Amino acid sequence: MNAKNDHAAWLHGGNAVCSDPGADQPCPRRFVLLGAPGVGKGTQAELLSRHFGACHLSLGDVFRAAGKCGHDPLSPAMSHALEFMRQGQLVPDQTVVSLIMERLKCLRCGGGFLLDGFPRTVAQARVLAAILENNSLQLDAVLDYKLPLREIISRLSGRRTCPSCAAVFHLKSLPPKKPGICDHCGAALLQREDDRPESIRMRLKAYAKNAEPLKRFYRRRELLVSIEAAGTPEETFERSLRELARRPALDRPEILFA
Ligand code: AMP
Repeated sequence: MNAKNDHAAWLHGGNAVCSDPGADQPCPRRFVLLGAPGVGKGTQAELLSRHFGACHLSLGDVFRAAGKCGHDPLSPAMSHALEFMRQGQLVPDQTVVSLIMERLKCLRCGGGFLLDGFPRTVAQARVLAAILENNSLQLDAVLDYKLPLREIISRLSGRRTCPSCAAVFHLKSLPPKKPGICDHCGAALLQREDDRPESIRMRLKAYAKNAEPLKRFYRRRELLVSIEAAGTPEETFERSLRELARRPALDRPEILFA
C-alpha cells in the first residue's frame, strides 16, 4: 500500500500548489467513481487511493471546504454553487466545469486520480473526456457502486460528522462512544445539512435522473465496472480490487476517447 496523497491543493482552489512531492507513480491509475449518495463512494475512494497511491478528488469535499472557510470571501460562482448544494441539488454544469478547469494540474498529476462525484452528468463526462484526450491521458475504469435504496437512506440519515476533525460516525453501525460527541477530538457531532431527509430525497432524485445516461456513456466506452456495495467497506474494497483485476489491459485507446 502507498501513503495517502495530499489533496489539499484540490480543496484550496486554482492557485494552490500541491505539497506532496512524492506523488508520482510508475503506472498512475485514473478512476471515476459512480454511485448514489450514501453508497460509500468516499470511503472506497480513500481505500483505493491508499492502495494505488492516487489522489482522491471529491468535488463535494471542495464545496464543503469552501462552505467552512468563513473568513475568506467566496467567489460569486462558489456562493452560487453552495446554494445548490445546501438544497441537495446538483450544482450547474458550467460552474462545475469552471472549478475543474482551475485544477487541471490535479488531473495531469503523475500520481493519478480517483474522481469521486465528478462527472455527475453526461455534459461533465464529455468535458472530462476532452481534457483527458487533450492531455493524452486515459481512464482505467469507471467504478459504479450499487446498493438497495432502503440501505442508502439508512446510511445517509444516520451519518454524523465531526466539524472539527472531519471524522465520520453512524448512529447504528459506527456510534461514537459518547452520544453526539466525537471520539477523536471531543467536538459536538453534526448531521450534514444535505443528509437531512428533505435533502436526501432531492439528492437521490438528482442522482437517478443523471445516472443512467452517464452509465450508458461509460458502458459504451467499455469502462463501466459494477460493484455491489453491501457489507463492510473492506468487503466492498476487496470486491473492487477483484473486479479491476479481471479487466483487460488498456490496449484500445480509441474506445476510451470516443
Ligand atoms: P457529494 O459529497 O459528492 O455527495 O456532493 C455533495 C453535493 O455537492 C451534491 O449534492 C451537489 O450539490 C454538489 N456536487 C458535488 N459534485 C458535483 C458535480 N459533479 N456536479 C454537480 N454538483 C455536484
